[in-house]
Amino acid sequence: MIMSEPTQFGQPQSTPALRGELRLDEPMSRHTSWHAGGVAQRLYQPADLADLCDFLRALPIDEPLLAVGLGSNLLVRDGGLRGTVLLMHGALRELSLQAEGSLYAQAGVPGAKLARFAALHGCLGAAFFAGIPGTVGGMLAMNAGCYGSETWRHVVKVQVVTRGGQLLERTPAEYEIGYRSVALRSKWSVESCLCPEEFFVGACFSFEAGDGDIARQEIKDLLAKRISSQPLNLPNAGSVFRNPPNDYAARLIEQCGLKGVRSGGAQVSEKHANFIVNTHGATAADIENLIMEVRATVAAQTGVDLHPEVKIIGEAREV
Ligand SMILES: Cc1cc2nc3c(=O)[nH]c(=O)nc-3n(C[C@H](O)[C@H](O)[C@H](O)COP(=O)(O)OP(=O)(O)OC[C@H]3O[C@@H](n4cnc5c(N)ncnc54)[C@H](O)[C@@H]3O)c2cc1C
Repeated sequence: MIMSEPTQFGQPQSTPALRGELRLDEPMSRHTSWHAGGVAQRLYQPADLADLCDFLRALPIDEPLLAVGLGSNLLVRDGGLRGTVLLMHGALRELSLQAEGSLYAQAGVPGAKLARFAALHGCLGAAFFAGIPGTVGGMLAMNAGCYGSETWRHVVKVQVVTRGGQLLERTPAEYEIGYRSVALRSKWSVESCLCPEEFFVGACFSFEAGDGDIARQEIKDLLAKRISSQPLNLPNAGSVFRNPPNDYAARLIEQCGLKGVRSGGAQVSEKHANFIVNTHGATAADIENLIMEVRATVAAQTGVDLHPEVKIIGEAREV
């Protein structure tokens, strides 16, 4: 289905025809790794970057917007999302070598693809992206990382689009970058998830130039490590809670005897205590209730207040 909705979005006559795909009442369970949650009022998957800019220019300025990559860090409540989801995955797919050790990737490129492309072009230090099942946009928004590496350590500059459809370039110095958090110093916080003013559409990354075979071996080793330690056979969203200072959320959750605890179709993984898996037909409410139960139990038994790393958004279903 390819369509544009001139009246709904107030598209002026002079706006170029939109080439992307607009879906109404789209189940977000199709776009989140938990495979749970309500519908998005509208979801737009642009044809490319120019089309995304055209789409944004045609939108009313108060339309609620949310960028989504692979939904691997998202819990959308069962009552769904008002406004429009901008689906970057499968849309902004450009990936290119700029110079030795330097890559450009658009926001919809998956981490695994970035890691393999980097290895192919002799870039060292990008293997960790292979273990993160998100897109470049999501990894920039979350400052995703693992095994001592983080996305923003390799960022030279980012390309963003404003909600008015204007493209801008920004440098890392313009952002407050922390553990799984990124916020533009001057304007908005990715943390808020509420009608942000800008979205990541691409980034230039820099890596150490070296032997591609070493990089490929690093990817293999990392994936083997992940398979042995994470419940990848069931839908999940990776680590649910951030690690508290000088400790591990998984250790605390396990210590509290919470492995295997269930809420409806959601369960604290037996394999990795900081993962919640969807064993069968879990609702977003099942998952959120379990998150709250784990948080309350850990706080009561250890005094540590765990903070969710996953973004919980949308409306609760009315009962
Ligand atoms: C099995 C598994 C293992 C994982 N392991 C790790 C790990 O080791 N380390 C780690 O850090 N994370 C890990 N994660 C979590 C997740 O993969 C990362 O947070 C990833 O960066 C999310 O990317 P995404 O494209 O799926 O983002 P989404 O889940 O789609 O979105 C996450 C947030 O980013 C925002 N966002 C997405 N795209 C954009 C954009 N273009 N511009 C602005 N904001 C945007 C969204 O609005 C949302 O707030 C894991 C998840 C799974 C399922």
